[in-house]
Amino acid sequence: MEQSHIRDVDPDAADALSSERQRQEDTLAMIASENHVSEAVLEAQGSALTNKYAEGYPGERYYAGCEYADEIESLAIERAEELWGAEHVNVQPHSGTQANMAVYLTALDPGDKILSLDLTHGGHLSHGHPANFTGQTYTVEQYEVDPETGYIDYEGLKAKADEFNPDIIVSGYSAYPREVEFERIQEAADLADAYHLADIAHITGLVAAGVHTSPVGVADFVTGSTHKTIRAGRGGIIMCDEEHADDIDNSVFPGAQGGPLMHNIAGKAVGFKEALSDDFEAYAEQTVKNAEALAETFTDAGLSVVSGGTDNHLVLVDLRPSHPETTGKEVEAALESAGIIMNANTVPGETRSAFNPSGIRVGTPALTTRGFTESTVREVGELMIELIDNPTDDEAIAAASDRVDTLTDEYPLYG
Ligand SMILES: *Cc1c(COP(=O)(O)O)cnc(C)c1O
Repeated sequence: MEQSHIRDVDPDAADALSSERQRQEDTLAMIASENHVSEAVLEAQGSALTNKYAEGYPGERYYAGCEYADEIESLAIERAEELWGAEHVNVQPHSGTQANMAVYLTALDPGDKILSLDLTHGGHLSHGHPANFTGQTYTVEQYEVDPETGYIDYEGLKAKADEFNPDIIVSGYSAYPREVEFERIQEAADLADAYHLADIAHITGLVAAGVHTSPVGVADFVTGSTHKTIRAGRGGIIMCDEEHADDIDNSVFPGAQGGPLMHNIAGKAVGFKEALSDDFEAYAEQTVKNAEALAETFTDAGLSVVSGGTDNHLVLVDLRPSHPETTGKEVEAALESAGIIMNANTVPGETRSAFNPSGIRVGTPALTTRGFTESTVREVGELMIELIDNPTDDEAIAAASDRVDTLTDEYPLYG
């Protein structure tokens, strides 16, 4: 078979792909769910395993020729078991949402009851939102964060569990800046005789590094994304005790998926190996220190940081108290013009809409991968504050953009 490179085959696609790489090089990625994987993980994901069908599990495949697929998947599983200390791991979910789907298939029947955090309070679509299959298949009740403190209202959660009698309680969030007390949620689940799914999508890396409490061994099921703080190949993962192992495996395949994305599983294997190093522990610690520095910079400037700070990799800002006329979308657009990429986000007690919310969510995983420490992150925080104050001032945007250029040159990504 004659071989040509993408640039010869499809210049349009090649242009878009190299532009994307350059975009990442030239901008500051502060979307809390994003990170930059290593060249090694990129290579694994671009490997020939993309061609391989490997339905089934290592040693029990439906097709021939799976010896290397088996090797790769076994490596991913062994390393995940070591990283998170789980009895059983399934690395095949195509995404975090698919991982959650497999848990619901295992634990629930259609119509059964899910108790989860409200989306505008930091939850996730796959926890029971009406626009998601979960909201359409199951009966959903939601708990909230305390509007005063911004912390999970654990007592309210317990009361809801008692009253609603859910079949499963979901913990783990998309926009929650504080340590999650998985033990307290487990107490509520025990009280209601419900399963507990801890979806650690955002904090997989922090949990693996011991920087955040682990729900493994506490909750019945733990799911995650493998491309967020853990910085491995793109996809999902499920962890559980041996008693649920076969059910979970059957729910992933054939329950929810066909052939696994073996090239992504290769990316998971390589990223997990990197995460087992001491360097990764230092990375996770620095990620949290950077988020703390950012929260402090915002607070010092008079911005309202939800919950008053952060324990993890993200900071949520409620713009209403300090900038009542400014929406999250306006700030998002101003920052994007300056090369700072983050997202508008709903805040607890949202008075606008999910599409045009009153807050911003900012994360430090990708900047920390780039080598940023507290001082550089503080500088980025100052740039952000300048544009939050002046979101339509072209001169301010241009000045911030110059500083972003200098920073991205100083801290190259892939080179
Ligand atoms: C990101 C995320 C997911 C999974 O997202 P995918 O895009 O499907 O991988 C699931 N749960 C939470 C809480 C998340 O933040």
